[in-house]
Amino acid sequence: MQTELSSAKTTKNIIQKYGFKLTKSLGQNFLINENILNEIIEAADITKDDVVLEIGTGIGTLTSKLCERAKRVVAVEIDKNLLPILNETLSAYQNIDIINKDILKTDINEELKSLGINQKVKVVANLPYYITTPIIMKILEENVNVSVMVLMLQKEVANRINAQHSTKDYGSLSIAVQYYCDTQIICKVPKNSFIPEPNVDSLVIKLTVNEKRKVEIEDEELFFKLVRGSFAKRRKTILNSLTGYEDLADKEKLEKLFEISQIDSKRRGETLTIQDFAKLTQNYKNVL
Ligand code: SAM
Repeated sequence: MQTELSSAKTTKNIIQKYGFKLTKSLGQNFLINENILNEIIEAADITKDDVVLEIGTGIGTLTSKLCERAKRVVAVEIDKNLLPILNETLSAYQNIDIINKDILKTDINEELKSLGINQKVKVVANLPYYITTPIIMKILEENVNVSVMVLMLQKEVANRINAQHSTKDYGSLSIAVQYYCDTQIICKVPKNSFIPEPNVDSLVIKLTVNEKRKVEIEDEELFFKLVRGSFAKRRKTILNSLTGYEDLADKEKLEKLFEISQIDSKRRGETLTIQDFAKLTQNYKNVL
């Protein structure tokens, strides 16, 4: 069943058999490329010791492969109309729990706890593109016990997450994710790997969640405010971009901050490393 599921013909047949109506606004683009499925599974290096959290099952194409390889799979799917289909496509597996909820409204830690799961999980998903960033940030900020995430994303978002400083894609999303994770692009995914074809190109990315944050900072809220403020006006100098941003200190104090941090305030935000932002955060209290 699982090898057939990834073919365009079987996917279409199942959709037709159940009279399932694909909902574009839920990002329902189902994967029909066996090679890409295998790349995802390989990148996640799934073994019989692993518990996998999948977000968005679709008709269960990736889910069934995960069930074959993992000890246990927990899948969150918002669309209740997919449940009868999953009942059929995943009928061979005993190691699956489907949670019919909106992932953004789900307390993931609580769900895992209530299922008796108290080990690190791997997140493997072909994400609904309309909420890619909120899902990733939710998992990271809520400290879900995750070792690695292998995710299919819209190409632009994956490139922004993976970007290094002084490149055009580098911004607050790169820093927000890299604060927690090492990032690696796994493969490009052609549009014809999905039914229906999405309007955008896709990439598979691997995020390895580190035990420790990339930099040590006392005030995370301030760190992220400085990061967001530095990219608020990308074409301006970092000093001008930060001046007047939310409740940050005035221009004079910010100038002092750059001086004591030994960072040129005429640079653009995109040239600063995550360590530079940490330095600014640590020195901030000394200029107030
Ligand atoms: N994993 C399947 C595959 O690869 O073919 C489906 C991937 S499809 C891109 C995204 C899936 O996420 C859809 O099944 C959609 O219904 C589901 N989804 C959309 N929004 C969701 C949400 N807020 N919470 C949970 N699942 C959601």
